[in-house]
Amino acid sequence: MKKTLLTLLACLTLTSALAQKPRPDAFPPMDDSLAPKSLTMATTLDEMYRWDRYPTYEVYVEMMNHFVETYPELCRLDTIGTSLRGRLILCLAMTGTDDNDIYRPEFFYSSTMHGDEITGFYFMLRLCDTLLASYGTSPQITSLLDRTRIYINPNANPDGTYAGGNSSVSRSMRYNANYVDLNRNYPDPFGSVSLDTLQCENKAMIAYVSQHRFELSANIHGGSEVMNYPWDSFTSRERRHEHADWWEAVCKRYVDTCRQHSRSIFTDVNSQGYIEGGDWYVISNGRQDYMNYYQHCHELTMEVSSDKKLASESLQRYWNIQGDALINYIKEIHSLADTIPHDTTSGDTTHVGISQHSTLNSQLSVYPNPTRGEVFISTGDGIRRIDLSDRPAGVYILNVKGRHYKVIKL
Ligand SMILES: [Zn+2]
Repeated sequence: MKKTLLTLLACLTLTSALAQKPRPDAFPPMDDSLAPKSLTMATTLDEMYRWDRYPTYEVYVEMMNHFVETYPELCRLDTIGTSLRGRLILCLAMTGTDDNDIYRPEFFYSSTMHGDEITGFYFMLRLCDTLLASYGTSPQITSLLDRTRIYINPNANPDGTYAGGNSSVSRSMRYNANYVDLNRNYPDPFGSVSLDTLQCENKAMIAYVSQHRFELSANIHGGSEVMNYPWDSFTSRERRHEHADWWEAVCKRYVDTCRQHSRSIFTDVNSQGYIEGGDWYVISNGRQDYMNYYQHCHELTMEVSSDKKLASESLQRYWNIQGDALINYIKEIHSLADTIPHDTTSGDTTHVGISQHSTLNSQLSVYPNPTRGEVFISTGDGIRRIDLSDRPAGVYILNVKGRHYKVIKL
């Protein structure tokens, strides 16, 4: 404990120094008049379905409701909360209709917490439509939805996106209506955000993610093209993420998929297209580290277009490059279960080590997230969930349908 505290203090000092380094996407939004481009708006749902423009706020809300009206058996619409100006922070929750008893891990996409980084906003709407429209026709998407609960929040900062009014994104800005950068306003491993400075958009988001057990997520930004994996608070030399090898493989798969369509994509930060967050530049109080550290979720930050306000005529091209990769990233939630060793240890989070009792031969499957102290045991005809999160470390013998399993909570 003392050692951890000392390490944290040392890192805190270092972070304060490094935090002075300007962040590429930290500059104030450019005056639009200096960079004229077309940011065409869809003012009707039909126009939006051409997928060559951005939605007005009203069309955005209408489209999210339209998904539920069109596919009521596949999705529902959650309201995460409301922004300072009263705009809705929405999340479409989707899963397949296959009524099996299988434990379905929860996946979360959230975009545009920086209100002017709007490529991901468009991506998320198009992704919702693609997943829902392909269910029952595409075997891979049908299987993905049947095995996964997918939550998509297209816009985490609608006041920023519609800072110039609901009918345009041309005056969109990074900040919320209090002019606070929402990605510097989360508790992080140093815990330096107090509850009274927490912005309402983030308060709502924290409440929402706390109600769920997201295993894998991505927070989508723009301004660069790079996959930024945890940690943001530490360089990899200070503290390498315990699943860094897995992260790098996941990032590489994303970038490789995109490069099948464009060789120049994801090259503006480095040639490989991915980087450990702190190695790029250290930040404090970002959402990525909050999700990883406090929610025990695996979240990375996707910077999906060098141009924050991608011209509307480029939207189709960017979707064609990244659409498959965005779907494949959701599938990684299942590689998380297969790949990550279950007996890893860490100084800060509780991990559960699992070993099957040697005298028994029934199958033991462990699904994420073992860091929460949850164990999921496949019994052949269903999944049994056992929650050890409130239990002390120790050895537990579990009796599940007459079979015994030894579970070690480290
Ligand atoms: Zn950003």
